Amino acid sequence: MPTIAPALGAELLVDFLNTLDIEEGADTLDDGAAFEVWANRHGVGMGDRAEARAVRDSLRALVDGGSASLPAVELETACSERSVELTASTAAQAAVAASVILSIQGRLDRVKLCHADDCRWAFYDRSRNGSRNWCSMGVCGNRQKARAYRARQGDAADGPTG
Ligand SMILES: [Zn+2]
Repeated sequence: MPTIAPALGAELLVDFLNTLDIEEGADTLDDGAAFEVWANRHGVGMGDRAEARAVRDSLRALVDGGSASLPAVELETACSERSVELTASTAAQAAVAASVILSIQGRLDRVKLCHADDCRWAFYDRSRNGSRNWCSMGVCGNRQKARAYRARQGDAADGPTG
């Protein structure tokens, strides 16, 4: 069973999906310097930003239940006796693609985008039955509940009263 560098896996994928921050309206991939910081922190190379964005957007669509065709990415690996490792120069999008293939194979349904339309933060669902819908129950989950509650109250107020 080939192994990959420990930095790779669901966390890398989730972090990569979250380079797009919908709530803040910020995209790390719009900014070369910011992307470089991100890549260094994750121990991957930068590669082409437009390609990275295409891969990210496809993956976001994919984990959100859509179908997406991944752009071709080039994978640079170093093989040792018992493992396959990605080289440090591996571009972010290639490393992420490798994570998807090697590390969380079959568990992609656990990577989700928050159901709150104004959030859409990516997270890895570690709940036992895989039923988590919000990035954070404390933030988006409660916000959603409050909204549903207000909507119900609103309906009651609009309806005929006794
Ligand atoms: Zn959220």
